[in-house]
Amino acid sequence: MIPDVVETSPATTPADAVAAARARFEAGATRSVAWRRAQLDALARLLDEQGARLEEALWADLRKSPTETRLTETAIVRAELDEARRRLRAWMRPRRRTVPWFLLPATAALLPEPLGVILIIAPWNYPLQLTLAPLVGAIAAGNAVVVKPSEHAPQVSAALAELLPRYLDAVHVVEGAAEETTALLAERVDHILYTGSGRVGRIVLRAAAEHLTPVTLELGGKSPVWFDDAAHLDQAARRIAWAAFVNAGQTCIRPDYVMAPPHLIDPLAKALERAVHDMLGADPSVSPDYGRIVNDAQHQRLVAMLEGADVVFGGRHDRATRYFEPTVTRADTAASAMQDEIFGPILPLVAMPGVEQAIAHITAHDKPLALYVFTRSKATRRAFAQRTSSGALGFDAPLLQISAPRIPFGGVGASGMGGYHGRASFELFSHLKPVVRRIHALDTLFLVRPPFTGLKQWFG
Ligand code: NAD
Repeated sequence: MIPDVVETSPATTPADAVAAARARFEAGATRSVAWRRAQLDALARLLDEQGARLEEALWADLRKSPTETRLTETAIVRAELDEARRRLRAWMRPRRRTVPWFLLPATAALLPEPLGVILIIAPWNYPLQLTLAPLVGAIAAGNAVVVKPSEHAPQVSAALAELLPRYLDAVHVVEGAAEETTALLAERVDHILYTGSGRVGRIVLRAAAEHLTPVTLELGGKSPVWFDDAAHLDQAARRIAWAAFVNAGQTCIRPDYVMAPPHLIDPLAKALERAVHDMLGADPSVSPDYGRIVNDAQHQRLVAMLEGADVVFGGRHDRATRYFEPTVTRADTAASAMQDEIFGPILPLVAMPGVEQAIAHITAHDKPLALYVFTRSKATRRAFAQRTSSGALGFDAPLLQISAPRIPFGGVGASGMGGYHGRASFELFSHLKPVVRRIHALDTLFLVRPPFTGLKQWFG
């Protein structure tokens, strides 16, 4: 019988946390379907019972409105939970495989087995979703887990450190920054899922090499938009503005900049301004639905990025409250905002003569986490689909790819390696072990043993 609320004393040091998770896994506690189901249920209960507490934490860390928290954090975790609870038995089932005729009579199957201890290192921008969505997959696959939330979202980190061990068995939380993460990375775990910057991603990969630990990297980068759909200007602008400014622009798959033919730049800028006004009013600083920049260092970085920029609208900011207005600029590819991922509410519009130049620009840079194309032309859609590479590709629809559990979420090249969500998470955190069984009767295997009687005749 698995209790409703698990009473475990939280492991305090990184080494303790990994050791405690390892012990629980080695004891065989996490493997049964009953345990996995109970854990998934407990996580759903945590979201139900502690929703208000978590919403307060997100408001404190990012001034994220409760509605936005539900939409962009908990709803995605709930969708993952629903999918995992519905599909768990099917995912756990051995997958039968046929064998070539010369191996007959034999049967073969892939048996999913848990990896062991999973380390999840999370960032601050969607601190709940990006911790709990991978956790769903790790639990569903029957693993023990160590979670390291981001120190830059301290209220969410504290809430997770308190709540996860209270509701869940075999899940340990280590709070802290680089020092604690470095200590965690020195421990041997069985898989690491890291979400954050490429700079730290490299550190994680190097540390993992010591133990030959497989790593999934969920990184970022500049996600471009191509826009040439003059007929749907307002609708496209509403979608782009929402995706670019949700969470005050601190979204890894947000449209980072928009490329458009020169004659569409001004109409698009005006439509974006209308869209921002419709969402957040004339003064977004008083909107209850507009977030804040996570900390002073990030705010300063964005202020510096705006220096010398050609601002079309927005541009106001306030250091004391870490407010940064939704801002659209006119830019060329040499502009400061076009060098690194913006990760804030600045959206440069870049004039490009046409699709060919836009594709050339994309392929000359790191492979993006997402690419969004707004066009009515089938040929243009095909050109982007076939001639560019990105973590995901959205036509007329930014951000939606993250909320579908049946679509693996992840990057490619510099934007990451490996994908998760739904079944992809289950498989990421499982080893699909080939199990081959040869029937005792009928020993045709004599063919493959010296002196190869029969085989020599066969090969001629
Ligand atoms: P970050 O790399 O600064 O921090 C992420 C995690 O790494 C934190 O838990 C932090 O404590 C840890 N960390 C920081 N420095 C470390 C060090 N020296 N050694 C070991 N661990 C260390 O990333 P961030 O600022 O939190 O996130 C921003 C980046 O993450 C952006 O590039 C964004 O695009 C990307 N991102 C990607 C996704 C995705 O799903 N692909 C989602 C959100 C954010």
